[in-house]
Amino acid sequence: MTKAPDKIKMVGDKTALILNKKQLLRPEDFLFFFPRHYQDRRKIQKISSVSLSTNSLITGEIIASGFFFTASRKLFEVTVYDGSGYLSCVWFNFNPRYMQNAFKRGRKILIYGKIEHFGGKKTIYHPEVDFSKSIDSNETGIVPIYPEIEGIYPKNLRKIVLNAVNTALSKVSSPLPAYIEAKKNFPAITVCFKEIHHPSSDLDIEQLNSFNTIYHKRLIFEEFFYFQLLLAVKKRTAKKEKGITITESRNLWRSLAPILPFKFTLAQKKVLKEIKNNFESGFVMQRLLQGDVGSGKTIVAFTSALLCIESGYQAAMMVPTEILARQHYLNFKQYCDRIGVSLRLLIGSLSNKEKGKIKGEISEGRVNLIIGTHALISEDISFKSLGFIVVDEQHRFGVLQRLELIKKGVNPHLLVMTATPIPRTLALTLYGDFDISVINQLPEGRIPVKTKACNEAERMAAYKYLLKETEKGNQGYVIFPLIEESEKIDLKSATTAKKELEIIFPSLKFGLIHGKMKGNEKEKVMDGFIRKEIDVLVSTTVVEVGVDVPDATVMIIEHAERFGLSTLHQLRGRVGRRTKQSYCFLINYLENAVDSAKRLKIMETSNDGFKIASEDLKLRGPGDLLGIRQAGMPLFRVGDIVRDTAILADAREEALELIEKDPFLESGENLRLKDYIERVYRLKLNFS
Ligand code: ADP
Ligand code: MG
Repeated sequence: MTKAPDKIKMVGDKTALILNKKQLLRPEDFLFFFPRHYQDRRKIQKISSVSLSTNSLITGEIIASGFFFTASRKLFEVTVYDGSGYLSCVWFNFNPRYMQNAFKRGRKILIYGKIEHFGGKKTIYHPEVDFSKSIDSNETGIVPIYPEIEGIYPKNLRKIVLNAVNTALSKVSSPLPAYIEAKKNFPAITVCFKEIHHPSSDLDIEQLNSFNTIYHKRLIFEEFFYFQLLLAVKKRTAKKEKGITITESRNLWRSLAPILPFKFTLAQKKVLKEIKNNFESGFVMQRLLQGDVGSGKTIVAFTSALLCIESGYQAAMMVPTEILARQHYLNFKQYCDRIGVSLRLLIGSLSNKEKGKIKGEISEGRVNLIIGTHALISEDISFKSLGFIVVDEQHRFGVLQRLELIKKGVNPHLLVMTATPIPRTLALTLYGDFDISVINQLPEGRIPVKTKACNEAERMAAYKYLLKETEKGNQGYVIFPLIEESEKIDLKSATTAKKELEIIFPSLKFGLIHGKMKGNEKEKVMDGFIRKEIDVLVSTTVVEVGVDVPDATVMIIEHAERFGLSTLHQLRGRVGRRTKQSYCFLINYLENAVDSAKRLKIMETSNDGFKIASEDLKLRGPGDLLGIRQAGMPLFRVGDIVRDTAILADAREEALELIEKDPFLESGENLRLKDYIERVYRLKLNFS
């Protein structure tokens, strides 16, 4: 029988319900409910000496209160006197009856808020107030500000959290090895929680607000440390797992070389060698392949697949969009037909009959290489002998989807590919159990895409290039963020834009692609574009990933200010894919907004996906860029992988060192660590 959890004190049923919805059930749940920031209320100030625009803490007596009216609304005002001067407190939104009852003349009151000037009076709008006769110590000193929870006043929330934390502290323990605690000079775990939720008044407020106290640091370190241990252990176990055996004969590989229209770059060769060595080592491969847009990852994956196929295994490649799946299919088909490899395409928009046929072929082993969207996992497909899985544009998929596909084979080798360059420390955090290969070179002859940010009025200049290039027989894209004209958002939609463009350029053929079209409709348009029956493709971001049309040399991106830098870089990667000079125009509808101009400037000056990604990271944080949420990564509760990179690196080092000494976490105090990790990540660390 499990013991009933401790109740949270001083909480009524209604409040408990609200807290439960936030997963705050037991006292210990509040330990990690961290303040967002801290307010400095250490000094009670005299009204006569407070300065404008600063947060101030004041105590005094209510000498007047009541409603008053402005042209547009009803306000409530309270005047407070503290012996040195008068302060006015003003509310716009309030419950009239409550206000009248609460703010009675003569009452002692504690007020905190920003001092402003209003009608010649020192005023605080919507101050935080406390009526306690003796001032509540939670409300002075350094006060934690928790994330808002609707239905609970901040002041009450503070009380609840503090009580819960105090209850929980008696039971808190940490599995952090004592030698690490000592080495890092970390305070005891209980002290850390106490200081984070109820800081001593001699702490540095700046440090607190940047989560940079030793108390924060310990908790951040611990969180990263356990995760890094998990990755290290997983990597070790994976290395021990036997993979399928790949023969050393490379006839398919050899027969591919003479029919490829190009030679591999040095970087591609290096990566192929890494993959081949991994295959031949007999251990399961888990590899992340990074390479900027256009660096030629696809052919590397294809060539690797040939090695597995030659050894009698099937290979599968999962891609995020049907357009991309078909493109890879057509690209591979020209080679497969000539070297005797059977290839199939499995996408959602095929008829059931077609799908059924292909599934049969897959389960009977009559297909060597299969390319598909997530249809590959969502359908009831069983492989005869799946030995190699490629996941293209990995950041578009979640970890779970990857695992689903892996389950369809027996210890298949795995190659995940992404053009989103991730700074090394982050790559280690998120893919620490993967080996990493990098293609750090573009094929020869690529010329950087000339990029220009322009305002709406300058669009004509961009159009001129569109016309000039199409007259030379090249092609172009015009990209829009939305599909349909929407009433609320004043964005030009792709659909209406195409009509306008057709009027401006009667001599050009336009095509339209957007996410709401059916698979076969998209296919028709895309085919027309590839066959050059269409000069300009008007599209939403469905063309973003992977699309490879050789003669496309102009790209116009409307509402460029709406896109993240990494997306812009991906989009721009659709042009300049061969040796022709290409052009990209970023139309900025917010040219007066400093930060969007700044962002687009980065695009003008850099073609380096790595640099662009780090800028994006600084500007927008890691969520979107890394697809962390989709990827099902544990979102760290305390640590921030961008802010705390130094701690992250440190934690990783310590984790690796520990695993080096005790690979199976089986000695003494490490057993506790193992238990803890298994509990937190809800998995069994399997060393068999
Ligand atoms: P990405 O890495 O962005 O997926 P792709 O694999 O689509 O890039 O390759 C971009 C283009 O470069 C493709 O058209 C591909 O055929 C071509 N390519 C790949 N490798 C080479 C090479 N070594 N030399 C010349 N062109 C190459
Ligand atoms: Mg690609």
